[in-house]
Amino acid sequence: MAESGRKRGVYAQLALGAAERGRFSPREIIDRLGRAADIVRPDGLVFWPSGDAALDGLVRGRCRELGLDLYLWLPVLADAGFDPAERDLAENAWGGGPAGGSGAWARLGSGDETFRFACPFAEGQAGRIRARCRDELPGYDGVFLDRIRYPSPANGLENLFTCFCPRCLERTPALAAWRDNARGLRERLRSATDVDLGRWGTFQALLAAFGLPEFAAARSLVLAEAVAGPARLARGMGKLVALDLFTPSLAALVGQDFRLLGGLADWIKPMIYCRARGPSGLPLELACFARGLLEWGRFSGPEVMAFVARSFSLPAVPRSADELESGGVDLAFAAAEYAAARGSAAVPIHPGFECVRHPDFDLDPDGDGIRRCLAAFSAAPAVVLAWNILYTPDDFLRIVAEGRPPPSRLFTKTRS
Ligand SMILES: [Zn+2]
Repeated sequence: MAESGRKRGVYAQLALGAAERGRFSPREIIDRLGRAADIVRPDGLVFWPSGDAALDGLVRGRCRELGLDLYLWLPVLADAGFDPAERDLAENAWGGGPAGGSGAWARLGSGDETFRFACPFAEGQAGRIRARCRDELPGYDGVFLDRIRYPSPANGLENLFTCFCPRCLERTPALAAWRDNARGLRERLRSATDVDLGRWGTFQALLAAFGLPEFAAARSLVLAEAVAGPARLARGMGKLVALDLFTPSLAALVGQDFRLLGGLADWIKPMIYCRARGPSGLPLELACFARGLLEWGRFSGPEVMAFVARSFSLPAVPRSADELESGGVDLAFAAAEYAAARGSAAVPIHPGFECVRHPDFDLDPDGDGIRRCLAAFSAAPAVVLAWNILYTPDDFLRIVAEGRPPPSRLFTKTRS
């Protein structure tokens, strides 16, 4: 795919939630696709359908006319077009979950997406995902699996310690001891000070100190097994498989192992979001993580921020969680994250970056930021313009289009 002389590919994303259907007419949506194709000539579109058969059919038809590879954007463990059944929800070490807790995002559950995660072993959820694949995938070239993870810091710090539901305890007996360890860790943090935090050094070392490193590895195996179900089903239908993963420095927090998951996919999109103030974006996730720690222990803000910077190898120590959330992470970090993803999975890595002016996430990057992201990903065979082409201004598309090959080279299917 990345043979010498070939310029990088481009994938766009289109999500049609209730907000978009209120803001844009079907005509505007279709015109936007044509306009994007005129300017940037994407190779493919990742499409989160609206559920309105007529509108979704129009979008798919237009993509066919434009020669785009079309991927069904399928959230697996949360926001799959239905809320998971109560009995299917993931459970944390304190019997609660999966959304809400220490440091949780204040807007969690207020929009179209609830981020209420199912247990990866929940058969009810898996059955509904299989049904969506069988019903919808025939109209697509591939599937793009999203929400293939455990809850993140935006769901509250307690929810990093999931899943301990009866299903999981039965399948993995070692979980009972790990649940005790997680409870012990939190109890110890209640009386911990800055000196203790400095001694532990990083979150990874803290987990190790409380007997939890095997817990992290076991979760990654469970998750890979859960992702294998829909991935194999799609492959069996002759479809491409792409995965939407957290950026490498955050992936372990949510149970994602690039090496394990890469074996299931044709390509991976790490969400290298240095600016986004929403779930999966570094600024919000790390700010929620810091706030959760501040709630758990008797720590000072600066010591927690130093701990966060060490744990996630940030290029600088943010002054506060608020500053981190509003100011973001230096874009220099993006190149290191891409290199880490590339080094840990044997499939093509197509980094995703915020290429939107999104009204719901106070996201307003400038052209210089877009250029810096593209430069950070100059070795990538393709990039993904996250996360909704409806909010991508033409001037951003023109920047992405600089150096793109002429149209005749473009509409080459990536299937081998
Ligand atoms: Zn479970």
